[in-house]
Amino acid sequence: PSKKVKEWKYTTCNYCSTGCSIEIGLDEQQKIVTTRGHAGADVNRGKLCIKGILEHELFESPGRGTEPLIRDKHFDSFKPTSWDHALDTTAAQIKQIQQTYGRDAFAIVSSGQLLTEEFYTLGKLARGVIGTNNYDGNTTLCMASAVSGYKRSFGADGPPGCYDDFEHTHCLMAFGSNLPEQHPIIYWRLKEALEKRHFPLIVVDPRVTMLAQFADIHLPITPGTDCVLINAMMYVIINEGLQDQAYIDAHTQGFNEVKALVQDYNPKSAQHICGIDEDTIRNVARIYAKAPTAMSIWTMGINQSTHGSDGVANINNLNMVTGNIGKPGGTSLSITGQCNAMGTREWSSCSGLPGYRYLENEQDRNEIADFWGIDPEFLPKKRGLSQTDIFPAIETGEIKGLWIVATNPMTSMPNTARIRKALEKLDFLVIQDVYQDVETNQYSHVYFPASVWAEKEGVHTNTERRVNLISNVLPPYKNSKPDFWIFNQMAKRFDQGQTVHFPESPEEAFEEMKYLSKGKMANGEPRNLDISGMTYDKILAAKGIQWPYREEDVGLKGQARLYSDGVFPTANGKANLLPIHFYNNNEQPCAEYPFWLNSGRVVEHFHTRTRTGKIGNCNKFSPTAYMEMNPDAAMALGVKHQSYVRLTSRRGDAVVLVQLTQRVPRNMVFIPFHFHDCVNRLTLGLLDPYSRQPAFKQCSTRIEPI
Ligand code: SF4
Repeated sequence: PSKKVKEWKYTTCNYCSTGCSIEIGLDEQQKIVTTRGHAGADVNRGKLCIKGILEHELFESPGRGTEPLIRDKHFDSFKPTSWDHALDTTAAQIKQIQQTYGRDAFAIVSSGQLLTEEFYTLGKLARGVIGTNNYDGNTTLCMASAVSGYKRSFGADGPPGCYDDFEHTHCLMAFGSNLPEQHPIIYWRLKEALEKRHFPLIVVDPRVTMLAQFADIHLPITPGTDCVLINAMMYVIINEGLQDQAYIDAHTQGFNEVKALVQDYNPKSAQHICGIDEDTIRNVARIYAKAPTAMSIWTMGINQSTHGSDGVANINNLNMVTGNIGKPGGTSLSITGQCNAMGTREWSSCSGLPGYRYLENEQDRNEIADFWGIDPEFLPKKRGLSQTDIFPAIETGEIKGLWIVATNPMTSMPNTARIRKALEKLDFLVIQDVYQDVETNQYSHVYFPASVWAEKEGVHTNTERRVNLISNVLPPYKNSKPDFWIFNQMAKRFDQGQTVHFPESPEEAFEEMKYLSKGKMANGEPRNLDISGMTYDKILAAKGIQWPYREEDVGLKGQARLYSDGVFPTANGKANLLPIHFYNNNEQPCAEYPFWLNSGRVVEHFHTRTRTGKIGNCNKFSPTAYMEMNPDAAMALGVKHQSYVRLTSRRGDAVVLVQLTQRVPRNMVFIPFHFHDCVNRLTLGLLDPYSRQPAFKQCSTRIEPI
C-alpha cells in the first residue's frame, strides 16, 4: 500500500499509554490508505502493534455517529436533530436538574481517550461554569490507585521513571503487568534491552501471562496478596542488612515504622498467605536488593484491587529501601492504561483542579478562580464523587442527570446489571462518543457524535510523562464534531460561560495550561508538571517531550526522571516510607464459588472494543470472549475444550467458551474484559478506600457445563 501513498501525516496512537508516534498515509484523493510507525520517534522507533497498524481503519468504521440524536424516553426511537437543538436541550436539562435538586445532582464522567486540551476544557466547564463537583474520569477504573500511591509516598502524582530505564537496570520486577499484550511496544523496548545485556526479569502474576513465559522467575501469587510478598521481601532485605541506609537516611522518613511492621512478615509465615515459597521470597529479595539498580513496573494487577493504593505505596517502599528512585535503571514506574490516562490525571479529574491542583487546598482554588475569573467560593472545598461512587448515588436519587464522554460503563464497570439499572433510573443521560452503537447509548436521551482522534488536534501524555501531538489528519466525519468544540459550545449556554473566557482552539487551551503549569506548588516546591517551555511545533519536531520542560529549558529534551536529586514534593522534602498492613478483605473462593475469577486484556482489542471491534483483523484474531481453564479442573467438572459453560457469581451469570490451558492454576479462570455482557456481569465492585478503584481481579465464581 505504500506505493499508493501520496502524503504521510504525523500523529500519535490513540489506544494504549505507550504513546507510539505514527504516520497515516493518504493517497492522491486524500483518502486514508495505511498507517506506519514513525522511525524517528524515541518511543517506538518505527514499530507498531496490531492495533496501531490498523488504526487508519477507524475513520470510516461502522457504527460511527453522523449527526446528533434525541428522544424523550430511552426506550423511544432516536430522531436526528441539529447540534443547536441537541446542545440547547442538554443545557436546559442540566439547568433544570441543578435548580430542582442542587448543583451536584448533575454528574459528568469522561475517560483517558480525550486529548489533554479537551480534559482541561471539560474541567473548566464542569467546575467553573456548570458548577458540579461530581465530575470524574475513568481513571478510577484504571490508574487511580497509582495516583493515590504516588501521592502518599512522594507527595505528588507522576511516574518518576522512563522507558530508557530498561537500558540501565540490573533487575526488573513486574507486578500484575502483561506488557506483550497490554503495551506491546513497551515490551519490545524491554526485550531489546534484555537482548543487549541480560538482567533478571521477575514476574509476579497469578497467571502464566505472556510476560511470565519470558521471565527468569515467575511468582504465581495468590490474588490480592502483593503487599504480603513485598513486606516479606523487605523483611529479608532489612534483616540481612541489604537496604540502602544512606539513601533511606538522606531522603526518606518512616523507616523505623516499616522496619517494625515487616517483622510480622517472616517469609516462613508469609508464604502461606501469598502462595510463594519461603526460599523463593528470600531469593528474589536478595536479587533485587543486591542489583546495582533495580526497577519495578506494574499495571492493573496492582491497581484494580481493594489494596491498590497500598500495593503502589509498598512497591515505592521496596524501591526506597533499596535506593531505587530517580536513578537510571532504578525506579518505580506505573505503566498507565489508556493513551491519555496521564492527561486526565494531570488536568483535573483525580485532583479536582488543573495542573495537579487540589480542591482541598485554598491556594490552589484561589489560583484557578483568579485565572478563570470566577468567585473562589464557586469552587467546592473538597473533591466530589468518583465514577464508582456516582452510580450508587444514582441508585439513591442523589444524582439525576449524567453526561458520559468517551467511555462505556455498560461494559467496563464491575457488576454491569447494577449499572444498567442505575442508567435506567436517570432523568437525563447524554452520551458523547465516536460511535452511536456503543452499549451505554441504549439508555441516553441525547447523543453527541464525536470526531475520532486524528480528526482533532491536541496532545496526549504517555506513561513516561511524554507529551506528544495528535494532528487532525482528516476533517471531522460527516456531522460529528471534536470534543473540544462540544465543550466550548456547551459553555456558551450557561450564564457563567458568558463571563468566563473559553479558548476557541486547542492551541489556545494549551497556552492556558502552560501558564497554569509554571511556578511553585502550595508547599513552595517548583511544579514538576511544568510544560511552559513546550509548543506544538517543538513537540512535533521532537516527536514528544517529557515534562517537566520549563520556559528556560533549551534543546528539545524534557526531564527523563523525577526525584533524581532525592528531593520530594512533601513538606520537608523527604519521601514517606509507609508501613502497609495486609487486611484480607478479598472475596475468596469457597465451597459454593470455588474458582478465583481473573480478568485482563488481549493484544488485539482495546477497552470495550468500541473501536477494535470494528477492525476486521482484530476481530479475526480475537473474535469472541473465552475463558481460560486448567485442564485438571475441567476434567473434574466434565468440561471440554471449546465447549460452553455457565459461570455464576454472587452478582450474576455469563455463558462463555472454554479454552483449556495450563496458563491458569486449577483454582482460577481468566476471561478478557473487552467483551460486552461477559466477565463484568460477574465482577465485584468492592472499592479501594483511597483511590475508589474497584477490585475487578479478586472475586469468586462457579462453573457449570451446559
Ligand atoms: Fe498504539 Fe499502544 Fe500499540 Fe503503540 S503499543 S501502537 S500506542 S496500541
